[in-house]
Amino acid sequence: MNAVGVDVGGTKIAAGVVSPEGEVLAAVRYPTPRSPDKLVETMVRAINEVGSGKDVAGVCLAVPGFVLAQKDTVVFSPNLPAIEGIPLKERVGPEVGFPLTIENDASAAAWGEFRFGSGSGVDDLVFLTLGTGIGGGVISHRALLRGAQGSGGELGHVTVHATGPRCACGNRGCLEALASGTAIGRRAREAAVENPGSALGRLAARRGLLGEDVTELAREGDGVALSVLEETGRWLGIGLAGFVNVFNPEVVAVGGGAMEAGDLILASARREIRLRARPPSRDLVEVKEATLGPESGVLGAAALARNTDGAYALGG
Ligand code: BGC
Ligand code: ZN
Repeated sequence: MNAVGVDVGGTKIAAGVVSPEGEVLAAVRYPTPRSPDKLVETMVRAINEVGSGKDVAGVCLAVPGFVLAQKDTVVFSPNLPAIEGIPLKERVGPEVGFPLTIENDASAAAWGEFRFGSGSGVDDLVFLTLGTGIGGGVISHRALLRGAQGSGGELGHVTVHATGPRCACGNRGCLEALASGTAIGRRAREAAVENPGSALGRLAARRGLLGEDVTELAREGDGVALSVLEETGRWLGIGLAGFVNVFNPEVVAVGGGAMEAGDLILASARREIRLRARPPSRDLVEVKEATLGPESGVLGAAALARNTDGAYALGG
């Protein structure tokens, strides 16, 4: 049966009704409000707009942050604090006519990639999304890793540099602080100041740098922009090498907005994995771009919604 997936992101809330085959039948998106009440209101509106009057098996809310599954809540959200502590099932459930589950946004996206994208046909997948933050999802032996409380797979907050830059979570040197879209922005601004004569430096003197500027200038051959992305890939690879050793995945799929840079980031990540991960995992793993783009969250959440018991079950 069809199901509704809702991807609650830092900038937009996207909801879609999805068929069992992964076809999006109807979709809406709204900007993400910054207050808890407005967040609830927008989730409810989005679900009802796409789902009402349709045969829907269930809804899954894919939410950014550390989930406490037993309370159907996000206890800690580095990049969307307004969602913290909302009892989601209690607040959203009664307003929509469908059974409701919650899942971490990146875990849901990992499930989407596993069912319909870069991980289809693969039993063991590690998925990372590089955006404002870094989200992670792990599929081990075709099961989604959720941990004891639903908070497993938070791969972005693994420390890769003990004295590194401050992370949105409060720690120092998390992978998120070194390889997210936000980290690319910070590194690019620093590089622009240090290299005022470079194309990146000259652009930064005229206006604020955007993530896509770095990719564009790197593609045009600006060495400073290239080294910003290469350095990002190096840190990404340091994190990934650990995940490769721990999870022994067949595929590591990397998605999120920063993946517009593709191999400009992934080439140095692969190099780092070859240096730091160990056989046999290192020799098996294929590191590639995720294929579903921004739809992976909605697709994965909808697939997870079909098992209302959620954890460890295969999507319907
Ligand atoms: C949060 C994750 C989330 C990721 C992407 C991280 O900062 O801790 O839960 O998946 O950002 O939204
Ligand atoms: Zn962190």
